[in-house]
Amino acid sequence: MVTQTGLQIGIAGAGIMGRLLAWQLQRAGHQVSLFDKDPADFGGAAAYTAAGMLAPYSELESAESLIYQLGQRGLSLWPELVASLDAEDCFFQRGSLVVAHQQDQADLQRFNLTLQRKIPDDSSVRLLNQTALADCEPDLATQFQQATQLADEGWLYPREIMRKLAEQLMAGGANWYANTAIEKIGPQQLHTVDQQFHFDLVIDCRGLGAKQDIEKLRGVRGELLWVHAPEVTISRMVRLMHPRYRLYLVPQKDQQYILGATQIESDDNSAISVRSALELLSALYAIHPGFAEARITETKTNCRPALMDNLPLISTADGLIRVNGLFRHGWLLAPALAEEVLRYVQTQTIAESQFPSIYNEGRVS
Ligand SMILES: Cc1cc2nc3c(=O)[nH]c(=O)nc-3n(C[C@H](O)[C@H](O)[C@H](O)COP(=O)(O)OP(=O)(O)OC[C@H]3O[C@@H](n4cnc5c(N)ncnc54)[C@H](O)[C@@H]3O)c2cc1C
Repeated sequence: MVTQTGLQIGIAGAGIMGRLLAWQLQRAGHQVSLFDKDPADFGGAAAYTAAGMLAPYSELESAESLIYQLGQRGLSLWPELVASLDAEDCFFQRGSLVVAHQQDQADLQRFNLTLQRKIPDDSSVRLLNQTALADCEPDLATQFQQATQLADEGWLYPREIMRKLAEQLMAGGANWYANTAIEKIGPQQLHTVDQQFHFDLVIDCRGLGAKQDIEKLRGVRGELLWVHAPEVTISRMVRLMHPRYRLYLVPQKDQQYILGATQIESDDNSAISVRSALELLSALYAIHPGFAEARITETKTNCRPALMDNLPLISTADGLIRVNGLFRHGWLLAPALAEEVLRYVQTQTIAESQFPSIYNEGRVS
C-alpha cells in the first residue's frame, strides 16, 4: 500500500477538531494551513465553552455504543497527547461520581442497570455506599448516601489545550490564517472573500460554520456556569441525576468548578436564560450547601454541532474531507476521529477502520 506524506493540506476551522487533526497531520509529515474566522487565542468555537469532560461511561446512558467505543479510544489517546503537548497539568483522570437525591434514586438505579447491560462486569464501575463515598469525597457524603464511581473517566482544561495546540502548530511551521473566514469550500479549494487557495487536500472542520454545506447539521444549545467555591472541596467530576438535564460539576484550578450543562434544541447563542440559571444553581446548592456562598465568575452559552442521529461523520471525497457532528462529545472523540482521518489520508481507504459506520455519508443526504 502507498502511504502519502508531504501533502499540502488546508483545514477550515480551528476548533478542537481542526486543531488536533492539523497537529496530527503535521506530526505525520504534512504541511498544514489552518484558517479560522477568529483569532488563534480565543473565539466562538464550541471547544472553548466545553467543560472538557472525557466521560464515555456517563454518556452511555443516552448515547449509542459507537460513542462509547470512540470515546474509549479517545480517552486512551489523551495521555500521550497531553504529554507531547507538555500539558500534563491540564489533564485529570480521577474518575466521576454519579449521585442522585432521594427523589431521583430510581434514575440512578436505571443508570446503573443501563451500564450493567451495555458493559457488563466492567471493574472500573463501582457502587459506593456512604462510608466508601465519604472516604473518597467527604463533601459529597454529607448530602448523598451512595454513588456510582466511574473510575476511568477524566477531564481536561479546554482553553489551555487549545492554546498549547496553537503553539505546537505554529512552532512546527503551520501557516495560520487567523481572522480569515472561509466563504466557500470545494475539492482542493478554499475561498475567502477575496482570495482562493489551492491544496492537495482540503479538510472542513468548521463545526456549525459548515451549516450551509451540510444540510442536516443543527445546533444544540448548551449553557454552563463557572463558580468560585472556597468552602467546598470536591476533586472528582460529579454527575447529578436530574429529571431535566444531565448535570455535572467539573473541578478546575483555584477552587473553581464548571457547572453544566443544559441541552436545548436550538442554535440560539444568546446569554443564559433565567430558567436555566435557576435550575443549574439550585441543583448546585443541593450538591453541597457550601455552594451558597460561591461566586458566579462566568456564564457561557454555545451550540454543539450535531447531525440528526447525534453521531459524528467523516465524509470523504476526492480532495475534500469533512469532519463534523461531534455534538456533546467533541473533546472526548476528537483524538479517535483525528486518528481515523490521518489513517484515511495516508492510505486512501477505510478498510482498516475500526469504526466504518462513521464514514456513512448516506446518514446526512
Ligand atoms: C456547553 C457545552 C459543553 C460541552 N462540554 C463538553 C465536554 O465536557 N466534553 C466534550 O467532549 N465535549 C463537550 N462539548 C462539545 C464540544 O465542545 C464540541 O463537540 C466540539 O467543540 C466540536 O468541535 P468542532 O471542532 O467540530 O467545532 P468547534 O469547536 O465549534 O470549532 C469550529 C471552528 O470553526 C471556525 N469556523 C466556523 N465557521 C468558519 C468559517 N466560515 N471560516 C473559518 N472558520 C470558521 C470557528 O471559529 C471554530 O473555531 C460541549 C459543548 C458545549 C456547547
